[in-house]
Amino acid sequence: MGPLQEPKVAAPPVKKEKVVRYRECRKNHAARIGGYAVDGCMEFMAAGEEGTGAALKCAACGCHRSFHKREVEREAPCDCSSVTSPQC
Ligand SMILES: [Zn+2]
Repeated sequence: MGPLQEPKVAAPPVKKEKVVRYRECRKNHAARIGGYAVDGCMEFMAAGEEGTGAALKCAACGCHRSFHKREVEREAPCDCSSVTSPQC
């Protein structure tokens, strides 16, 4: 009697693909002293893998993802026919 290995077929739930991008960091680092100063980070980069706590932290500036400007793109990532630049 050997170990019975049955293949696990995990069907991922069908979900609508929604592309969300996080742009510039808008955390005010000078709020404590009544000023306004951002760190200049222009795009959120996850510090860790998706699903971990580090994924919500920016690798570049160290701020939480919620400080970054959120942009939702619903269309295809690249549509060469309607971009303003001549080359894609
Ligand atoms: Zn930041």
